[in-house]
Amino acid sequence: MADSAREPRLALVTGGARGIGRAVALELARGGYNVAVNFRSSAEAAAALVKELESLGVRAGAFQADVSNREQVEVLFKRIREALGPVGVLVNNAGITHDTLLMRMKAEDWDAVLSANLSSAFYCTKEAVRDMARAKWGRIVTISSVVGITGNAGQANYAASKAGLIGFTKSVAREYAARGITANAVAPGFIDTSMTEVLKDDVKAAISAQIPEGHIGTPEDVARAVAFFAHSGSAYITGQVLAVDGGLTMC
Ligand code: NAD
Repeated sequence: MADSAREPRLALVTGGARGIGRAVALELARGGYNVAVNFRSSAEAAAALVKELESLGVRAGAFQADVSNREQVEVLFKRIREALGPVGVLVNNAGITHDTLLMRMKAEDWDAVLSANLSSAFYCTKEAVRDMARAKWGRIVTISSVVGITGNAGQANYAASKAGLIGFTKSVAREYAARGITANAVAPGFIDTSMTEVLKDDVKAAISAQIPEGHIGTPEDVARAVAFFAHSGSAYITGQVLAVDGGLTMC
């Protein structure tokens, strides 16, 4: 969806080198946004994506950082501001799973998931709103999950982090609504990425059977919802959670 805003805005996509983040970066570039791609370890994939983004006629750059680390996030934003300018659109996408039943879940499994999925959004949003408040314009789009709404056996840590992101999003939305900054969340259901490729075919078939649309979604399905929230025309929409799940949850 092309954005007719006067100047090209800069979007930062955390964990953007692959999967949903990659699709979001491409969708935003097609809409005319410059894109900063954050990656943790996939430097080659990030560099290839930057080339692809540039071929769409926008400015782009790849920036290494572990967004679960506050100091690294501060350096990340400094480097992005120097290279591409202030961040206007933040997509909190980076996330991990360490799935196991509660009885077997170690404190390390809990801490790793909460810091990669939830604390990362806190660190990045705190930095991004500095730029956005100055510009009196900003879009924060956070990738939650339907399991943050419904819960899921074997994902107590992941579901807690994704539910936390919804409370975080609504609080930020309330704090910044009067300053031209919106904060919304996209809650994907089952999407075909490396996060779900570990599932066995029979498990995927059983999941598909539960989805009213009858199939697992694509990263592009999620990217289009992110682009909708990021659009300058979505100014009157904040604090919302949009499920992209083929009708799985309908809540
Ligand atoms: P993915 O594993 O392909 O992508 C996740 C990306 O985040 C990877 O590039 C990874 O390197 C990056 N990342 C993880 N921790 C990081 C850190 N500390 N610093 C920087 N980067 C980090 O999986 P995906 O499916 O594309 O996941 C993207 C987001 O969508 C995640 O937040 C995930 O929880 C969410 N999600 C995915 C699904 C699904 O079915 N695939 C469903 C609901 C929500």
